Amino acid sequence: MTTVRCVRCSQEGASLTSNPFRSSEALRALGEQLQRSVCKPCYDAWLQTSVKLVNDSKLDLRDERSKDVWLTQMRAFLNLDGGRDPWRRFVDKRVRVETTSKIVTTATVLRVDDEKIWLSDFEGGAIARGFAPTQKGADGASGSATILRDFVLTIEEVRT
Ligand SMILES: [Zn+2]
Repeated sequence: MTTVRCVRCSQEGASLTSNPFRSSEALRALGEQLQRSVCKPCYDAWLQTSVKLVNDSKLDLRDERSKDVWLTQMRAFLNLDGGRDPWRRFVDKRVRVETTSKIVTTATVLRVDDEKIWLSDFEGGAIARGFAPTQKGADGASGSATILRDFVLTIEEVRT
């Protein structure tokens, strides 16, 4: 039996005995990543959650958009990207942010800490309402601003 130090539960556990995506050329590398980094109990927990997700959200996994949603949820559930903080995967990415006061904007993430997120290059060139401007030149970028993570309703990467 092969064991892994699991990125989701931080325990040493049995790894997946076979690549769950072995039949898909596009996803085979992801399957190998799963075998290297996630324990079987956690993967099984994901499969259970996944069934519920597919039913509740009416995902059709033959559809690319649904498949993206499913894979994003899987990465988040299994903590494949973030180490300890899943928000760190947004650093240097273009994101669409919706705040709790229903402001929607697109900007680039500079950095993330436990409390706040730093953004720059807001769409339209102006810092969106509800964001606190940082000093010009801070973080090496003009027009950057922070927002408390608690005020972020949704954040998602924008594919450019
Ligand atoms: Zn685990």
